[in-house]
Amino acid sequence: MPTTPLLPLPDGLEITSISVTEQELHVRVTSNRLSSCCPLCSTPSSAIHSYYRRQPLELPCAGKRIRLLLSVKKFFCRVASCPRKVFTERLPELIEPSSRLTTRLRTMVQAVCAAFNAKGGARLGKQLGIQLSRKTFLRSLLLLPNPPTGKVKAVGIDDFAWKRGKRYGTVIIDLETHDVLDLLPDREAESVKQWLLAHPEIEIVSRDRAGAYADGAAQGAPQAQQIADRWHICKNLGDAVEDYLKRKAIAIPSSPPSDLASAQVKALPALPPPTAPVKRTRASLAKTEQKQKRVDQVKTMHQEGNSIHTIAARLDLARNTVRRYLRLERPVEPTPRPRKPSQLDPFYDYLSERFKEGCSNAHQLFEELQEKGYRGGETTVRSFVTRLRRGLSGMARPPKHAKQGEAVSAVSPRELRWLLAKREQELTPEEQHDLKRLLERSSEIKMLSGLLQSFLEMLRSRQPERLNGWMKEARESGIAELGSFVAGIERDYDAVRAGLTYQWSQGPVEGTVNKIKTHKRLMYGKASFTLLRQKLLHLG
Ligand SMILES: [Zn+2]
Repeated sequence: MPTTPLLPLPDGLEITSISVTEQELHVRVTSNRLSSCCPLCSTPSSAIHSYYRRQPLELPCAGKRIRLLLSVKKFFCRVASCPRKVFTERLPELIEPSSRLTTRLRTMVQAVCAAFNAKGGARLGKQLGIQLSRKTFLRSLLLLPNPPTGKVKAVGIDDFAWKRGKRYGTVIIDLETHDVLDLLPDREAESVKQWLLAHPEIEIVSRDRAGAYADGAAQGAPQAQQIADRWHICKNLGDAVEDYLKRKAIAIPSSPPSDLASAQVKALPALPPPTAPVKRTRASLAKTEQKQKRVDQVKTMHQEGNSIHTIAARLDLARNTVRRYLRLERPVEPTPRPRKPSQLDPFYDYLSERFKEGCSNAHQLFEELQEKGYRGGETTVRSFVTRLRRGLSGMARPPKHAKQGEAVSAVSPRELRWLLAKREQELTPEEQHDLKRLLERSSEIKMLSGLLQSFLEMLRSRQPERLNGWMKEARESGIAELGSFVAGIERDYDAVRAGLTYQWSQGPVEGTVNKIKTHKRLMYGKASFTLLRQKLLHLG
């Protein structure tokens, strides 16, 4: 049986016999090639030195493992100047030298491993008839060569948390093709510089406003135009707004009673998650206490004359966090958390209605809901009904219009930040109402809102000539957070101005950063950097 379509082999190889054991199929394959080229000097040789056998694994067949019993030759290299005297026959179409898997099988293993991880790959492999250890899966993935990069015109550079707050890496994206070009194990200027030096063709480097990337780009790609990417500019401004709202402890005042009634009808009802409320409060109190301690620590150190840089380094905090803590005027309060959406949300009205009608049997309600398309668990229904029984229905939400006459809203500064950033035409009637009440709080907020809106408008309409005027206005507003934001722009003025004009979007970079998070989760957070890099480069 020289060949079979079931197991195609390269020319010059022939199947001599097939035998079956309990675990595997043994396929004897002999090479009939009379000569082979020396791997060092490339001179063909037909002077046979000896024969030897390799036993690599091949792709499984019908769930059964296949092992090739491969007879190959060793040749003499007769070239006097060549240091290699004896070499083994090369079969590049079938298998790499000294590999224990055929190339077909290796490729399959790499694909499986890249899609999952070594552990998941090994588990899935078992079902596919590829019984290999986790180590072999891992090694296969690491064997993949870097894909060729080619010419790159515009790159986006950003960091990603390798271990949150502790270790960061850098991701480099082709802004035109959105391909991941590389992952670097740190976010130092030097690494970025070295990478960019290998690509003298790069014309545009888009980056956030961190100093290291700017330095790395200046040294590694002096020919390129640096731009501060719009995504980060917006984010920094948004952070400044949010910091201001937190510092001033700004909340939307509660609505008058007439609004309360209508809002309750319209608004999406919010149930607290069905966990023990006492526990949650205790946990969040502890967290608040801890944060307060931190804030005090920062303030004390600052009064002692330590610089922000020193405090940040000693307490292992971001410098912006230190600045924010120093600006805090009131004691730390727990941040109200927006409620997570529940599977029950769409059935809220129905449930309340049924309860009012007198049905308080959770199991029955659960079954009724299932018929209406509810896909959640019975426990959720049960705890909801319990709340209704305790008369908590109307007060169940931690919502905007919670209690009459109470001036504290449960809308977090983060939500208010997005409210302020929305375009007027995007606001729902309810949001318009909220915004109006928010702006009534003080003339300072009105000013902040105006400055935020005009900055975003400048970004959208790409009008860098308005930047200087805006900076002047923001500085004169006297709002400390905006002052810091403007100071940041001044430090990186050219790149920010360029960022207002260029249309390269940093979106794909942020997308990759999110993708990295997913991959890290898939790898149970223990992925080694090399593994993560391989996955990103080969799977995209
Ligand atoms: Zn040779």
